[in-house]
Amino acid sequence: MRGLMQDVGLTLQMVTERVGELYGDKTVATKTAEGIRRRSYTEVVERVARLATALRQLGVKPGDRVGTFAWNSDRHLELYLAVPCMGAILHTLNPRLPADQIGYIADHAGDQIMFIDASLAPAWQQVPPVDSIHAVVVMDDVSEHGHDGAAVLPDALDYEALLASGADHFAWPRLDEGDAAAMCYTSGTTGMPKGIVYSHRSSVLHAMASLFVDCLALSERDVLLPIVPQFHVNAWGTPYAALLTGASLAMPGRFMADPPSLATLVAEEGVTVSAAVPTVWFGVLQAIRAGAVDPAKLSSLQRIVCGGSAVPEALLRGFDDLGIRMIQAWGMTETSPLGTVANVKSTLAEDRILPARLSQGIPAPSLRVRVVTDDERVAPWDGSTMGELQINGPWIADAYYDPQAPQGRGGQDRFTEDEAGRRWLKTGDVAVIDADGYVHLRDRTKDLVKSGGEWISTVELENLLVAHDKVREAAVIAVAHPKWGERPLACVVKADDSVTTEELLAHLGEHVARWQVPDDIVFVDEVPKTSVGKFDKKVLRQRYGDYQLPADHLPPA
Ligand code: AMP
Repeated sequence: MRGLMQDVGLTLQMVTERVGELYGDKTVATKTAEGIRRRSYTEVVERVARLATALRQLGVKPGDRVGTFAWNSDRHLELYLAVPCMGAILHTLNPRLPADQIGYIADHAGDQIMFIDASLAPAWQQVPPVDSIHAVVVMDDVSEHGHDGAAVLPDALDYEALLASGADHFAWPRLDEGDAAAMCYTSGTTGMPKGIVYSHRSSVLHAMASLFVDCLALSERDVLLPIVPQFHVNAWGTPYAALLTGASLAMPGRFMADPPSLATLVAEEGVTVSAAVPTVWFGVLQAIRAGAVDPAKLSSLQRIVCGGSAVPEALLRGFDDLGIRMIQAWGMTETSPLGTVANVKSTLAEDRILPARLSQGIPAPSLRVRVVTDDERVAPWDGSTMGELQINGPWIADAYYDPQAPQGRGGQDRFTEDEAGRRWLKTGDVAVIDADGYVHLRDRTKDLVKSGGEWISTVELENLLVAHDKVREAAVIAVAHPKWGERPLACVVKADDSVTTEELLAHLGEHVARWQVPDDIVFVDEVPKTSVGKFDKKVLRQRYGDYQLPADHLPPA
């Protein structure tokens, strides 16, 4: 017997409709060069209808790709709503990628229109021409009231002028919840970037799950500051979650890497929750310690969602001391991105609480995780059997976009199916799962060091190194070794000039087996970062791949 309930498709149109009807007086605030620009959600929803009619006049049809090349802002939010709700596909591009990769991505996705922040116009001008793009629209984020965006790029349209050409009313088409809503390409630390296509259904379910108290606990009472870029996995889906629940938004514009601007935004908007990668939060702590940011400005901030790379204990404790709770989450472009969240279960014994907070967390409701060993066994949840993390659930990718493949479904070698017919994404992350269900990431498969047949976790060594007072940043890489295959080498940024190699190796020796201690330390001015702020170990491996390790280090047991 079938259930006798209404068959209502889960589409982003419900987000637009709900925020307009119920939360019109809430606001999105955007940091600009001249101050903070605020718009009510009523105004946003009106502008979204204008944008959709203007896009229709430009020839945008359902299924067309509309690209964005922009920072976090109210205008980018308008595109987040107008494009998917009219049945087109929002494709957010990462302006920090090399120009040729940006060109490759826009071409591969078949983008037809590109919306560009004026401040990013110089970066866009480096991108090789993309044949499919027939219109470029510039959003002036340089002068607050300026409408001269079009002057920045030849033949470009101005965003505000485009909106003015639209009509007040748009007849939103009926959409299928399985239709594509948005696309995002992986940051491509291995090989070329790969396209992920989110559906309306996956986007709505992801937003709903973010609201659960035991997930990110976003509520109508919150003011959310997504520092994680809107071009990186939809700012972790937080704008849709905020709109669905009626939380106000604060957008950092092009000032997302500037702690004093962020602190001002927190203070002026009364931000209660924020989300960003660890590097951003280290920057905020350093600015506080250097006296550049007054911690009183952060007094409204209650919690921080942090992920994208492992959260070191020193960072968690630094924010605990400020009375701000840092919640670690793990995810990928392929997982929309919310995969696991490190909330503390009420049944955990006292001594399990900190390890749980420092883990990547337990799967969000409706997701399943498992660890599969090298010999294809599903690992027990014992906290020690290591293997590749795999994930299944309604907002997990089922294919990579390949315009040449049937139905665009490429990359099938990254997916597998179990006896029950469940589909699993192979994440490329190496993990253990403990008896309480918490996932502890040990490494990326490609970053692990294999020494004398034994795996060494570079993440564990990095966490131990940054826990040392005299270390600011640490990245550990594998270096070829004639006898042991590979040995670890640590690249360290000093927090204190007096720190020595011997001191750091002795510190590590207190916590890990002697054969896991790196053979040497190189001191660097900074660890190279990828376009989304993660350690770029590829660059370090190129730089130190043939590094001569000292001969006298104790070999593996
Ligand atoms: P991206 O698709 O660019 O968001 O990158 C996803 C990758 O970032 C994951 O596969 C992990 O390797 C890494 N990552 C994300 N969150 C965490 C976390 N909390 N701890 C450690 N690594 C993480």
